[in-house]
Amino acid sequence: MPDPKGFLTTGRQTRRRRPVSERAQDWGEVYEGHPLLPVVSLQAGRCMDCGLPFCHNACPLGNLIPEWNDLVFHQDWEAAAERLHATNNFPEFTGRLCPAPCESSCVLAINADPVTIKEVEVAIADRAWSRGEVRPEPAPRATGRSVAVVGSGPAGLAGAQQLTRAGYAVTVYERADRVGGLLRYGIPDFRMAKRYLDRRIAQMRAEGTRFVTGTAVGTAVDAGDLRARHDALLLAVGATAWRELALPGRALAGIHQAMEYLPIANRVCVGDLDAPTISAEGKDVVIVGGGDTAADCLGTALRQHARRVTQLDIHPQPPDTRSPDQPWPIHPKVHRLTASHEEAGHLYREQYGCPAGRPGADGGEAGDGAPDAVPGGGGAPGREPRAATGGCSGGPDGPDIRTYAARTVRFDGAEGQVSGVTFVASAGPAGGPPGAAAEQAVPAQLVLLALGFAGPERDSPLVGQLGLELAPQGTFARDVDFATGRDGVFVAGDAGRGQSLIVWAIAEGRSAAAAVDRYLAGSTALPAPIRATHRPLVL
Ligand SMILES: Cc1cc2nc3c(=O)[nH]c(=O)nc-3n(C[C@H](O)[C@H](O)[C@H](O)COP(=O)(O)OP(=O)(O)OC[C@H]3O[C@@H](n4cnc5c(N)ncnc54)[C@H](O)[C@@H]3O)c2cc1C
Ligand code: SF4
Repeated sequence: MPDPKGFLTTGRQTRRRRPVSERAQDWGEVYEGHPLLPVVSLQAGRCMDCGLPFCHNACPLGNLIPEWNDLVFHQDWEAAAERLHATNNFPEFTGRLCPAPCESSCVLAINADPVTIKEVEVAIADRAWSRGEVRPEPAPRATGRSVAVVGSGPAGLAGAQQLTRAGYAVTVYERADRVGGLLRYGIPDFRMAKRYLDRRIAQMRAEGTRFVTGTAVGTAVDAGDLRARHDALLLAVGATAWRELALPGRALAGIHQAMEYLPIANRVCVGDLDAPTISAEGKDVVIVGGGDTAADCLGTALRQHARRVTQLDIHPQPPDTRSPDQPWPIHPKVHRLTASHEEAGHLYREQYGCPAGRPGADGGEAGDGAPDAVPGGGGAPGREPRAATGGCSGGPDGPDIRTYAARTVRFDGAEGQVSGVTFVASAGPAGGPPGAAAEQAVPAQLVLLALGFAGPERDSPLVGQLGLELAPQGTFARDVDFATGRDGVFVAGDAGRGQSLIVWAIAEGRSAAAAVDRYLAGSTALPAPIRATHRPLVL
Protein backbone atom coordinates (compact mmCIF):
# COMPACT_ATOMS: atom_id res chain seq x y z
CA MET A 1 0.00 0.00 0.00
CA PRO A 2 1.45 3.41 -0.92
CA ASP A 3 0.69 5.37 2.27
CA PRO A 4 -1.71 3.94 4.84
CA LYS A 5 -2.87 7.42 5.84
CA GLY A 6 -2.39 9.20 2.51
CA PHE A 7 -6.08 9.50 1.72
CA LEU A 8 -6.64 11.08 5.14
CA THR A 9 -3.70 13.48 5.24
CA THR A 10 -3.33 14.58 1.61
CA GLY A 11 -5.92 16.45 -0.42
CA ARG A 12 -6.42 15.95 -4.13
CA GLN A 13 -4.26 18.29 -6.16
CA THR A 14 -4.57 18.49 -9.94
CA ARG A 15 -2.44 19.95 -12.66
CA ARG A 16 -2.93 23.68 -13.13
CA ARG A 17 -4.10 25.16 -16.38
CA ARG A 18 -2.18 28.12 -17.75
CA PRO A 19 -3.89 31.48 -17.24
CA VAL A 20 -6.73 32.00 -19.72
CA SER A 21 -5.33 35.36 -20.81
CA GLU A 22 -2.13 33.59 -21.89
CA ARG A 23 -3.32 30.27 -23.27
CA ALA A 24 -6.23 31.62 -25.33
CA GLN A 25 -3.66 33.55 -27.38
CA ASP A 26 -1.75 30.47 -28.51
CA TRP A 27 -2.24 26.83 -29.52
CA GLY A 28 -0.01 25.32 -26.85
CA GLU A 29 -1.42 22.83 -24.37
CA VAL A 30 -3.72 24.37 -21.79
CA TYR A 31 -1.80 22.85 -18.89
CA GLU A 32 1.35 24.20 -17.29
CA GLY A 33 4.54 22.22 -17.98
CA HIS A 34 5.22 19.64 -15.26
CA PRO A 35 3.94 21.39 -12.18
CA LEU A 36 2.50 18.24 -10.67
CA LEU A 37 5.74 16.25 -10.73
CA PRO A 38 6.98 17.31 -7.30
CA VAL A 39 3.65 16.36 -5.73
CA VAL A 40 2.53 13.47 -7.90
CA SER A 41 4.08 10.88 -5.59
CA LEU A 42 2.07 12.26 -2.71
CA GLN A 43 -1.02 12.14 -4.89
CA ALA A 44 -0.29 8.50 -5.73
CA GLY A 45 0.07 7.98 -1.97
CA ARG A 46 -3.64 8.74 -1.58
CA CYS A 47 -4.38 5.36 -3.19
CA MET A 48 -5.76 2.82 -0.70
CA ASP A 49 -4.63 -0.23 -2.73
CA CYS A 50 -8.17 -1.54 -2.54
CA GLY A 51 -8.74 -5.28 -2.36
CA LEU A 52 -11.28 -4.85 -5.16
CA PRO A 53 -9.84 -1.93 -7.15
CA PHE A 54 -12.86 -0.54 -8.98
CA CYS A 55 -10.57 1.90 -10.82
CA HIS A 56 -9.01 -1.08 -12.55
CA ASN A 57 -12.39 -2.58 -13.46
CA ALA A 58 -13.69 0.70 -14.89
CA CYS A 59 -10.78 0.95 -17.32
CA PRO A 60 -11.34 -1.09 -20.50
CA LEU A 61 -7.57 -1.55 -20.71
CA GLY A 62 -7.49 -3.08 -17.23
CA ASN A 63 -4.76 -0.61 -16.26
CA LEU A 64 -2.85 -1.79 -13.18
CA ILE A 65 -3.58 1.42 -11.31
CA PRO A 66 -2.92 0.41 -7.68
CA GLU A 67 0.41 -1.10 -8.77
CA TRP A 68 1.67 2.10 -10.41
CA ASN A 69 0.41 4.25 -7.58
CA ASP A 70 2.45 2.17 -5.17
CA LEU A 71 5.57 2.26 -7.36
CA VAL A 72 5.33 6.02 -7.90
CA PHE A 73 4.85 6.64 -4.19
CA HIS A 74 8.03 4.65 -3.56
CA GLN A 75 9.86 6.52 -6.37
CA ASP A 76 10.32 3.43 -8.55
CA TRP A 77 9.38 5.27 -11.73
CA GLU A 78 11.01 2.83 -14.12
CA ALA A 79 8.99 -0.10 -12.81
CA ALA A 80 5.89 2.10 -12.87
CA ALA A 81 6.48 2.83 -16.57
CA GLU A 82 6.86 -0.88 -17.26
CA ARG A 83 3.56 -1.65 -15.48
CA LEU A 84 1.85 1.21 -17.30
CA HIS A 85 2.95 0.01 -20.73
CA ALA A 86 2.01 -3.57 -19.87
CA THR A 87 -1.65 -2.69 -20.49
CA ASN A 88 -1.61 0.51 -22.55
CA ASN A 89 0.30 1.20 -25.76
CA PHE A 90 -0.23 4.97 -25.54
CA PRO A 91 -0.54 6.22 -21.94
CA GLU A 92 0.61 9.70 -22.93
CA PHE A 93 -2.56 10.00 -25.07
CA THR A 94 -5.00 8.67 -22.48
CA GLY A 95 -3.21 10.54 -19.66
CA ARG A 96 -4.01 13.76 -21.51
CA LEU A 97 -7.33 13.05 -23.18
CA CYS A 98 -9.25 10.35 -21.35
CA PRO A 99 -12.32 11.44 -19.36
CA ALA A 100 -11.02 8.96 -16.76
CA PRO A 101 -13.87 6.59 -15.90
CA CYS A 102 -11.30 5.08 -13.52
CA GLU A 103 -11.45 8.21 -11.34
CA SER A 104 -15.26 8.11 -11.25
CA SER A 105 -14.98 4.52 -10.01
CA CYS A 106 -12.18 5.11 -7.52
CA VAL A 107 -13.36 3.91 -4.11
CA LEU A 108 -12.30 7.25 -2.64
CA ALA A 109 -14.91 8.95 -4.87
CA ILE A 110 -17.70 7.42 -2.78
CA ASN A 111 -17.35 10.18 -0.23
CA ALA A 112 -14.25 12.20 -1.15
CA ASP A 113 -12.13 13.26 -4.10
CA PRO A 114 -10.71 10.39 -6.15
CA VAL A 115 -7.04 9.69 -6.69
CA THR A 116 -5.61 11.77 -9.59
CA ILE A 117 -5.11 8.57 -11.59
CA LYS A 118 -4.91 10.25 -14.98
CA GLU A 119 -2.21 12.65 -13.85
CA VAL A 120 -0.15 9.92 -12.25
CA GLU A 121 -0.44 8.13 -15.59
CA VAL A 122 0.75 11.07 -17.68
CA ALA A 123 3.54 11.88 -15.21
CA ILE A 124 4.89 8.31 -15.46
CA ALA A 125 4.68 8.31 -19.26
CA ASP A 126 6.25 11.76 -19.73
CA ARG A 127 9.08 11.00 -17.32
CA ALA A 128 9.86 7.70 -19.06
CA TRP A 129 9.94 9.42 -22.47
CA SER A 130 12.06 12.32 -21.27
CA ARG A 131 14.64 9.92 -19.83
CA GLY A 132 14.84 7.83 -23.01
CA GLU A 133 13.31 4.80 -21.31
CA VAL A 134 10.62 4.28 -23.97
CA ARG A 135 12.49 2.43 -26.68
CA PRO A 136 11.46 0.49 -29.78
CA GLU A 137 10.57 -3.13 -28.98
CA PRO A 138 11.06 -5.05 -32.22
CA ALA A 139 9.82 -8.63 -32.38
CA PRO A 140 12.43 -11.25 -31.43
CA ARG A 141 11.53 -13.27 -34.54
CA ALA A 142 9.37 -12.85 -37.64
CA THR A 143 6.35 -15.08 -38.27
CA GLY A 144 6.62 -14.74 -42.04
CA ARG A 145 2.96 -13.63 -42.21
CA SER A 146 1.63 -10.20 -43.05
CA VAL A 147 -1.31 -8.13 -41.84
CA ALA A 148 -2.84 -4.99 -43.36
CA VAL A 149 -4.37 -2.49 -40.96
CA VAL A 150 -6.76 0.04 -42.51
CA GLY A 151 -6.99 3.29 -40.54
CA SER A 152 -4.39 4.87 -38.25
CA GLY A 153 -6.44 6.16 -35.31
CA PRO A 154 -5.74 4.81 -31.83
CA ALA A 155 -7.44 1.47 -32.61
CA GLY A 156 -5.40 0.86 -35.77
CA LEU A 157 -2.16 2.03 -34.14
CA ALA A 158 -2.63 -0.16 -31.06
CA GLY A 159 -3.50 -3.19 -33.20
CA ALA A 160 -0.55 -2.56 -35.50
CA GLN A 161 1.92 -2.17 -32.63
CA GLN A 162 0.77 -5.37 -30.95
CA LEU A 163 0.95 -7.39 -34.17
CA THR A 164 4.33 -5.95 -35.19
CA ARG A 165 5.78 -6.83 -31.80
CA ALA A 166 4.35 -10.34 -32.23
CA GLY A 167 6.40 -10.77 -35.40
CA TYR A 168 3.95 -9.95 -38.20
CA ALA A 169 4.86 -7.75 -41.15
CA VAL A 170 2.29 -5.00 -40.60
CA THR A 171 1.36 -2.26 -43.06
CA VAL A 172 -1.01 0.50 -41.96
CA TYR A 173 -3.00 2.13 -44.78
CA GLU A 174 -4.33 5.61 -44.08
CA ARG A 175 -6.35 7.76 -46.47
CA ALA A 176 -5.25 11.04 -44.88
CA ASP A 177 -1.83 12.49 -45.61
CA ARG A 178 -0.65 11.87 -42.04
CA VAL A 179 -1.06 9.12 -39.50
CA GLY A 180 -3.15 9.45 -36.33
CA GLY A 181 -6.89 9.53 -37.12
CA LEU A 182 -8.85 11.84 -34.84
CA LEU A 183 -5.76 12.36 -32.68
CA ARG A 184 -4.21 14.14 -35.67
CA TYR A 185 -6.97 16.09 -37.39
CA GLY A 186 -9.82 16.12 -34.83
CA ILE A 187 -8.35 16.95 -31.43
CA PRO A 188 -6.67 20.38 -31.41
CA ASP A 189 -3.09 21.06 -30.34
CA PHE A 190 -4.20 22.88 -27.21
CA ARG A 191 -5.49 19.55 -25.84
CA MET A 192 -2.63 17.36 -27.06
CA ALA A 193 0.43 18.55 -28.94
CA LYS A 194 1.12 16.50 -32.05
CA ARG A 195 4.71 15.83 -30.99
CA TYR A 196 3.41 13.13 -28.62
CA LEU A 197 1.80 11.39 -31.57
CA ASP A 198 4.83 11.82 -33.82
CA ARG A 199 7.28 10.24 -31.38
CA ARG A 200 5.02 7.17 -30.97
CA ILE A 201 4.81 6.82 -34.75
CA ALA A 202 8.63 7.04 -34.86
CA GLN A 203 8.82 4.27 -32.25
CA MET A 204 6.43 2.12 -34.30
CA ARG A 205 8.42 2.67 -37.50
CA ALA A 206 11.60 1.68 -35.66
CA GLU A 207 9.86 -1.53 -34.57
CA GLY A 208 9.06 -2.31 -38.20
CA THR A 209 5.48 -1.13 -38.76
CA ARG A 210 5.07 0.31 -42.27
CA PHE A 211 2.77 3.25 -42.96
CA VAL A 212 1.21 4.05 -46.33
CA THR A 213 -0.59 7.40 -46.21
CA GLY A 214 -2.77 9.13 -48.78
CA THR A 215 -4.31 5.77 -49.70
CA ALA A 216 -8.05 5.25 -49.28
CA VAL A 217 -8.67 1.53 -49.22
CA GLY A 218 -11.74 0.77 -51.29
CA THR A 219 -10.94 3.61 -53.71
CA ALA A 220 -7.20 3.85 -54.34
CA VAL A 221 -6.71 0.17 -53.49
CA ASP A 222 -9.33 -2.56 -53.85
CA ALA A 223 -10.05 -3.99 -50.40
CA GLY A 224 -10.51 -7.51 -51.78
CA ASP A 225 -7.09 -7.32 -53.46
CA LEU A 226 -5.56 -6.05 -50.24
CA ARG A 227 -7.05 -9.00 -48.35
CA ALA A 228 -5.63 -11.37 -50.95
CA ARG A 229 -2.14 -9.84 -50.62
CA HIS A 230 -2.06 -10.21 -46.83
CA ASP A 231 -2.79 -13.04 -44.42
CA ALA A 232 -5.32 -10.95 -42.51
CA LEU A 233 -6.99 -7.55 -42.66
CA LEU A 234 -7.83 -5.38 -39.64
CA LEU A 235 -10.30 -2.58 -40.38
CA ALA A 236 -10.01 0.38 -37.99
CA VAL A 237 -11.61 3.07 -40.13
CA GLY A 238 -13.41 4.90 -37.31
CA ALA A 239 -16.96 6.23 -37.13
CA THR A 240 -16.56 9.15 -39.46
CA ALA A 241 -20.16 9.49 -40.74
CA TRP A 242 -21.29 12.67 -38.97
CA ARG A 243 -24.87 13.30 -37.89
CA GLU A 244 -26.76 15.90 -39.90
CA LEU A 245 -29.25 18.54 -38.84
CA ALA A 246 -31.65 18.65 -41.77
CA LEU A 247 -33.53 21.83 -40.86
CA PRO A 248 -34.74 24.75 -42.94
CA GLY A 249 -31.76 26.85 -43.99
CA ARG A 250 -29.20 24.04 -43.75
CA ALA A 251 -27.96 24.80 -47.28
CA LEU A 252 -26.96 28.36 -46.35
CA ALA A 253 -23.27 29.18 -46.63
CA GLY A 254 -21.44 29.39 -43.32
CA ILE A 255 -22.83 26.18 -41.79
CA HIS A 256 -20.22 23.47 -41.38
CA GLN A 257 -19.73 20.16 -39.69
CA ALA A 258 -17.23 20.16 -36.80
CA MET A 259 -15.02 17.72 -38.68
CA GLU A 260 -14.94 20.08 -41.67
CA TYR A 261 -13.78 22.89 -39.38
CA LEU A 262 -11.35 21.25 -36.91
CA PRO A 263 -9.01 19.56 -39.45
CA ILE A 264 -8.43 22.91 -41.18
CA ALA A 265 -7.42 24.56 -37.89
CA ASN A 266 -5.11 21.62 -37.20
CA ARG A 267 -3.53 22.08 -40.62
CA VAL A 268 -2.84 25.73 -39.91
CA CYS A 269 -1.09 24.70 -36.68
CA VAL A 270 1.18 22.30 -38.52
CA GLY A 271 1.98 24.87 -41.23
CA ASP A 272 0.11 23.28 -44.16
CA LEU A 273 -2.05 26.41 -44.51
CA ASP A 274 -1.23 30.06 -43.84
CA ALA A 275 -4.79 30.82 -42.75
CA PRO A 276 -7.90 28.73 -42.12
CA THR A 277 -10.32 28.47 -45.04
CA ILE A 278 -13.15 28.30 -42.50
CA SER A 279 -12.48 30.84 -39.76
CA ALA A 280 -14.35 32.21 -36.77
CA GLU A 281 -12.40 35.46 -36.78
CA GLY A 282 -14.63 38.45 -36.04
CA LYS A 283 -17.79 36.35 -36.31
CA ASP A 284 -20.70 35.44 -34.11
CA VAL A 285 -20.44 31.68 -33.89
CA VAL A 286 -23.10 29.18 -32.86
CA ILE A 287 -22.05 25.63 -31.99
CA VAL A 288 -24.90 23.15 -32.04
CA GLY A 289 -24.22 20.13 -29.86
CA GLY A 290 -22.39 19.12 -26.69
CA GLY A 291 -19.46 16.89 -25.84
CA ASP A 292 -15.76 16.90 -26.62
CA THR A 293 -16.20 17.88 -30.24
CA ALA A 294 -18.25 20.96 -29.39
CA ALA A 295 -15.70 21.96 -26.72
CA ASP A 296 -12.91 21.60 -29.28
CA CYS A 297 -14.83 23.82 -31.74
CA LEU A 298 -15.26 26.38 -28.97
CA GLY A 299 -11.58 26.47 -27.98
CA THR A 300 -10.62 26.73 -31.65
CA ALA A 301 -13.10 29.55 -32.37
CA LEU A 302 -11.82 31.51 -29.36
CA ARG A 303 -8.23 31.19 -30.57
CA GLN A 304 -9.34 32.41 -34.00
CA HIS A 305 -10.76 35.50 -32.26
CA ALA A 306 -14.46 34.89 -32.75
CA ARG A 307 -16.55 37.87 -31.72
CA ARG A 308 -18.90 35.74 -29.62
CA VAL A 309 -19.68 32.06 -29.34
CA THR A 310 -22.95 30.51 -28.22
CA GLN A 311 -23.40 26.79 -27.69
CA LEU A 312 -26.83 25.19 -28.01
CA ASP A 313 -27.20 21.84 -26.28
CA ILE A 314 -30.46 19.97 -26.70
CA HIS A 315 -30.03 18.20 -23.38
CA PRO A 316 -30.97 19.75 -20.04
CA GLN A 317 -28.07 20.88 -17.92
CA PRO A 318 -26.61 17.92 -16.03
CA PRO A 319 -26.24 18.22 -12.25
CA ASP A 320 -22.97 19.44 -10.75
CA THR A 321 -22.52 16.22 -8.80
CA ARG A 322 -23.75 12.65 -9.17
CA SER A 323 -27.48 12.23 -9.31
CA PRO A 324 -29.06 9.27 -7.46
CA ASP A 325 -29.71 7.47 -10.74
CA GLN A 326 -25.95 7.48 -11.51
CA PRO A 327 -24.45 6.11 -8.33
CA TRP A 328 -20.81 5.23 -7.76
CA PRO A 329 -19.01 3.49 -9.52
CA ILE A 330 -20.73 4.61 -12.74
CA HIS A 331 -19.03 7.36 -14.76
CA PRO A 332 -21.72 10.02 -14.32
CA LYS A 333 -22.98 12.76 -16.57
CA VAL A 334 -22.19 15.95 -14.64
CA HIS A 335 -21.78 19.58 -15.57
CA ARG A 336 -18.09 19.90 -16.41
CA LEU A 337 -16.10 23.06 -16.81
CA THR A 338 -13.84 22.19 -19.73
CA ALA A 339 -10.81 24.34 -20.41
CA SER A 340 -12.61 25.81 -23.44
CA HIS A 341 -15.67 26.77 -21.40
CA GLU A 342 -13.47 28.31 -18.76
CA GLU A 343 -11.77 30.38 -21.47
CA ALA A 344 -15.08 31.50 -22.97
CA GLY A 345 -16.46 32.52 -19.60
CA HIS A 346 -13.37 34.53 -18.79
CA LEU A 347 -13.08 36.25 -22.16
CA TYR A 348 -16.76 37.12 -22.49
CA ARG A 349 -17.03 38.40 -18.97
CA GLU A 350 -14.20 40.77 -19.75
CA GLN A 351 -15.50 41.73 -23.17
CA TYR A 352 -19.27 41.79 -22.87
CA GLY A 353 -20.25 40.82 -19.38
CA CYS A 354 -22.49 38.21 -20.98
CA PRO A 355 -22.44 36.12 -24.19
CA ALA A 356 -24.75 36.93 -27.06
CA GLY A 357 -25.19 40.42 -25.67
CA ARG A 358 -27.62 39.36 -22.96
CA PRO A 359 -27.56 41.07 -19.62
CA GLY A 360 -27.11 39.22 -16.38
CA ALA A 361 -23.51 38.09 -16.00
CA ASP A 362 -22.08 38.83 -12.62
CA GLY A 363 -18.51 39.48 -11.71
CA GLY A 364 -15.87 37.43 -9.98
CA GLU A 365 -12.46 36.38 -11.12
CA ALA A 366 -12.19 33.76 -13.82
CA GLY A 367 -10.83 30.48 -12.56
CA ASP A 368 -7.40 30.43 -14.10
CA GLY A 369 -5.84 27.16 -13.23
CA ALA A 370 -9.07 25.70 -11.91
CA PRO A 371 -9.14 21.93 -11.88
CA ASP A 372 -11.62 19.90 -13.89
CA ALA A 373 -14.87 19.23 -12.12
CA VAL A 374 -14.50 15.93 -10.34
CA PRO A 375 -17.35 13.50 -10.74
CA GLY A 376 -17.27 12.25 -7.21
CA GLY A 377 -17.37 13.84 -3.83
CA GLY A 378 -15.62 17.07 -4.78
CA GLY A 379 -14.18 19.25 -7.50
CA ALA A 380 -14.83 22.64 -8.98
CA PRO A 381 -18.44 23.73 -8.93
CA GLY A 382 -20.15 24.28 -12.25
CA ARG A 383 -21.16 27.75 -13.34
CA GLU A 384 -24.68 28.76 -13.98
CA PRO A 385 -25.65 28.09 -17.56
CA ARG A 386 -28.29 29.83 -19.55
CA ALA A 387 -31.57 28.01 -19.80
CA ALA A 388 -33.26 28.08 -23.17
CA THR A 389 -36.06 30.16 -21.75
CA GLY A 390 -34.08 32.55 -19.60
CA GLY A 391 -31.40 35.16 -19.82
CA CYS A 392 -27.73 34.84 -19.13
CA SER A 393 -26.28 34.41 -15.71
CA GLY A 394 -22.77 33.95 -14.51
CA GLY A 395 -20.76 32.41 -11.73
CA PRO A 396 -17.32 32.87 -10.28
CA ASP A 397 -15.72 31.84 -13.58
CA GLY A 398 -17.81 34.18 -15.69
CA PRO A 399 -20.82 33.36 -17.84
CA ASP A 400 -21.38 29.90 -19.24
CA ILE A 401 -21.82 30.21 -22.99
CA ARG A 402 -23.86 26.99 -23.05
CA THR A 403 -27.59 27.23 -23.48
CA TYR A 404 -29.13 23.98 -22.33
CA ALA A 405 -32.39 22.34 -23.32
CA ALA A 406 -32.27 24.25 -26.60
CA ARG A 407 -33.73 22.61 -29.71
CA THR A 408 -32.61 24.25 -32.92
CA VAL A 409 -35.54 24.79 -35.28
CA ARG A 410 -34.02 26.60 -38.26
CA PHE A 411 -31.07 28.43 -39.67
CA ASP A 412 -31.84 32.00 -40.70
CA GLY A 413 -30.09 33.77 -43.51
CA ALA A 414 -29.98 36.38 -46.19
CA GLU A 415 -28.53 36.23 -49.70
CA GLY A 416 -27.51 32.63 -49.25
CA GLN A 417 -25.42 33.27 -46.11
CA VAL A 418 -26.37 32.20 -42.60
CA SER A 419 -27.14 35.10 -40.27
CA GLY A 420 -28.58 33.39 -37.21
CA VAL A 421 -29.98 30.33 -35.51
CA THR A 422 -33.48 30.02 -34.08
CA PHE A 423 -34.22 27.61 -31.24
CA VAL A 424 -36.88 26.73 -28.67
CA ALA A 425 -36.73 25.14 -25.25
CA SER A 426 -36.61 21.37 -25.56
CA ALA A 427 -37.49 20.88 -21.90
CA GLY A 428 -39.21 22.80 -19.15
CA PRO A 429 -37.80 23.55 -15.72
CA ALA A 430 -35.88 20.61 -14.17
CA GLY A 431 -35.98 18.79 -17.48
CA GLY A 432 -39.77 18.49 -17.54
CA PRO A 433 -42.04 18.95 -20.59
CA PRO A 434 -41.24 22.11 -22.58
CA GLY A 435 -44.60 23.93 -22.48
CA ALA A 436 -45.30 26.58 -25.08
CA ALA A 437 -41.83 28.09 -25.29
CA ALA A 438 -41.25 31.08 -27.50
CA GLU A 439 -38.67 30.97 -30.27
CA GLN A 440 -35.35 32.65 -29.53
CA ALA A 441 -32.73 33.71 -32.04
CA VAL A 442 -28.99 34.22 -31.84
CA PRO A 443 -26.92 35.92 -34.53
CA ALA A 444 -24.41 33.74 -36.38
CA GLN A 445 -22.20 34.16 -39.40
CA LEU A 446 -20.63 30.78 -38.68
CA VAL A 447 -22.51 27.70 -37.43
CA LEU A 448 -20.68 24.54 -36.39
CA LEU A 449 -22.54 21.24 -36.07
CA ALA A 450 -21.10 18.95 -33.39
CA LEU A 451 -23.84 16.34 -33.18
CA GLY A 452 -21.78 13.18 -32.99
CA PHE A 453 -21.20 10.40 -35.46
CA ALA A 454 -23.55 7.75 -36.80
CA GLY A 455 -20.88 5.09 -37.43
CA PRO A 456 -18.53 4.18 -40.28
CA GLU A 457 -19.44 5.43 -43.73
CA ARG A 458 -22.17 3.05 -44.92
CA ASP A 459 -21.60 3.86 -48.58
CA SER A 460 -17.87 3.08 -48.26
CA PRO A 461 -16.70 0.83 -51.12
CA LEU A 462 -15.16 -1.34 -48.38
CA VAL A 463 -18.63 -2.73 -47.63
CA GLY A 464 -19.23 -4.11 -51.12
CA GLN A 465 -15.63 -5.11 -51.86
CA LEU A 466 -15.35 -7.16 -48.67
CA GLY A 467 -18.98 -8.26 -48.41
CA LEU A 468 -19.31 -6.68 -44.95
CA GLU A 469 -22.59 -6.68 -43.08
CA LEU A 470 -23.86 -3.70 -41.13
CA ALA A 471 -25.10 -4.09 -37.56
CA PRO A 472 -28.50 -2.52 -36.77
CA GLN A 473 -26.76 0.50 -35.19
CA GLY A 474 -24.86 1.13 -38.44
CA THR A 475 -21.44 -0.19 -37.42
CA PHE A 476 -19.55 -2.96 -39.23
CA ALA A 477 -20.96 -6.25 -37.89
CA ARG A 478 -18.54 -8.60 -36.10
CA ASP A 479 -18.60 -11.41 -33.57
CA VAL A 480 -17.32 -11.22 -29.98
CA ASP A 481 -13.78 -11.83 -31.26
CA PHE A 482 -13.82 -8.89 -33.69
CA ALA A 483 -14.19 -11.15 -36.77
CA THR A 484 -16.51 -10.19 -39.64
CA GLY A 485 -18.25 -12.86 -41.70
CA ARG A 486 -15.44 -12.55 -44.26
CA ASP A 487 -12.52 -14.94 -43.68
CA GLY A 488 -9.52 -13.18 -42.11
CA VAL A 489 -11.19 -9.76 -41.91
CA PHE A 490 -11.47 -8.14 -38.46
CA VAL A 491 -12.92 -4.84 -37.22
CA ALA A 492 -11.65 -2.70 -34.31
CA GLY A 493 -12.40 0.68 -32.77
CA ASP A 494 -15.24 3.08 -33.49
CA ALA A 495 -15.97 1.30 -36.80
CA GLY A 496 -17.24 -1.70 -34.83
CA ARG A 497 -18.21 -0.14 -31.49
CA GLY A 498 -19.64 3.16 -32.68
CA GLN A 499 -18.46 6.57 -31.51
CA SER A 500 -16.52 6.00 -28.31
CA LEU A 501 -13.31 6.98 -26.52
CA ILE A 502 -9.58 6.68 -27.13
CA VAL A 503 -9.17 4.26 -24.24
CA TRP A 504 -11.79 1.94 -25.76
CA ALA A 505 -10.17 2.26 -29.19
CA ILE A 506 -6.80 1.18 -27.75
CA ALA A 507 -8.45 -1.71 -25.88
CA GLU A 508 -10.19 -2.73 -29.12
CA GLY A 509 -6.94 -2.58 -31.10
CA ARG A 510 -5.13 -4.74 -28.53
CA SER A 511 -7.93 -7.28 -28.34
CA ALA A 512 -8.41 -7.45 -32.10
CA ALA A 513 -4.66 -8.01 -32.50
CA ALA A 514 -4.96 -11.02 -30.18
CA ALA A 515 -7.86 -12.31 -32.30
CA VAL A 516 -5.83 -11.90 -35.51
CA ASP A 517 -2.86 -13.69 -33.92
CA ARG A 518 -5.11 -16.58 -32.82
CA TYR A 519 -6.59 -16.78 -36.34
CA LEU A 520 -3.15 -16.94 -37.96
CA ALA A 521 -1.17 -18.91 -35.37
CA GLY A 522 -3.84 -21.07 -33.75
CA SER A 523 -3.25 -19.58 -30.30
CA THR A 524 -2.08 -16.30 -28.86
CA ALA A 525 -0.14 -14.91 -25.91
CA LEU A 526 -1.26 -11.35 -26.71
CA PRO A 527 -3.49 -9.69 -24.11
CA ALA A 528 -7.17 -9.20 -24.94
CA PRO A 529 -8.56 -6.79 -22.33
CA ILE A 530 -12.09 -6.73 -23.78
CA ARG A 531 -14.43 -8.64 -26.04
CA ALA A 532 -16.24 -6.79 -28.80
CA THR A 533 -19.47 -6.89 -26.80
CA HIS A 534 -18.09 -5.30 -23.61
CA ARG A 535 -19.64 -1.96 -22.69
CA PRO A 536 -18.99 0.67 -20.02
CA LEU A 537 -20.72 0.10 -16.69
CA VAL A 538 -24.29 1.49 -16.69
CA LEU A 539 -27.39 0.67 -14.68
C1 LIG B 1 -13.20 16.39 -32.11
C2 LIG B 1 -13.13 15.12 -31.31
C3 LIG B 1 -12.59 15.16 -30.04
C4 LIG B 1 -12.50 13.98 -29.29
N1 LIG B 1 -11.94 14.06 -28.05
C5 LIG B 1 -11.80 12.93 -27.32
C6 LIG B 1 -11.20 12.97 -26.03
O1 LIG B 1 -10.84 14.02 -25.53
N2 LIG B 1 -11.05 11.81 -25.34
C7 LIG B 1 -11.44 10.61 -25.87
O2 LIG B 1 -11.25 9.58 -25.22
N3 LIG B 1 -12.03 10.54 -27.08
C8 LIG B 1 -12.22 11.67 -27.82
N4 LIG B 1 -12.81 11.60 -29.05
C9 LIG B 1 -13.19 10.28 -29.58
C10 LIG B 1 -11.95 9.53 -30.10
O3 LIG B 1 -11.13 10.41 -30.82
C11 LIG B 1 -12.35 8.33 -30.94
O4 LIG B 1 -13.19 7.49 -30.17
C12 LIG B 1 -11.13 7.53 -31.41
O5 LIG B 1 -10.23 8.34 -32.13
C13 LIG B 1 -11.56 6.34 -32.29
O6 LIG B 1 -10.42 5.70 -32.77
P1 LIG B 1 -10.43 4.82 -34.10
O7 LIG B 1 -9.04 4.36 -34.29
O8 LIG B 1 -11.50 3.80 -34.02
O9 LIG B 1 -10.88 5.81 -35.27
P2 LIG B 1 -10.31 7.21 -35.81
O10 LIG B 1 -9.49 7.91 -34.81
O11 LIG B 1 -11.51 7.91 -36.34
O12 LIG B 1 -9.36 6.79 -37.01
C14 LIG B 1 -9.87 6.20 -38.18
C15 LIG B 1 -8.89 6.42 -39.30
O13 LIG B 1 -9.26 5.63 -40.42
C16 LIG B 1 -9.01 6.37 -41.61
N5 LIG B 1 -9.81 5.81 -42.69
C17 LIG B 1 -11.17 5.80 -42.80
N6 LIG B 1 -11.53 5.16 -43.93
C18 LIG B 1 -10.39 4.75 -44.54
C19 LIG B 1 -10.11 4.03 -45.74
N7 LIG B 1 -11.11 3.60 -46.54
N8 LIG B 1 -8.81 3.78 -46.07
C20 LIG B 1 -7.80 4.22 -45.26
N9 LIG B 1 -8.02 4.90 -44.12
C21 LIG B 1 -9.29 5.15 -43.76
C22 LIG B 1 -9.42 7.77 -41.23
O14 LIG B 1 -8.85 8.72 -42.11
C23 LIG B 1 -8.85 7.86 -39.81
O15 LIG B 1 -7.52 8.32 -39.82
C24 LIG B 1 -12.96 12.76 -29.82
C25 LIG B 1 -13.53 12.72 -31.09
C26 LIG B 1 -13.63 13.89 -31.83
C27 LIG B 1 -14.26 13.87 -33.20
S1 SF4 C 1 -10.08 2.50 -6.43
FE1 SF4 C 1 -8.89 4.41 -6.01
S2 SF4 C 1 -8.06 4.05 -3.95
FE2 SF4 C 1 -8.72 2.03 -4.69
S3 SF4 C 1 -6.93 1.09 -5.72
FE3 SF4 C 1 -8.00 2.26 -7.31
S4 SF4 C 1 -7.04 4.31 -7.33
FE4 SF4 C 1 -6.46 3.30 -5.39
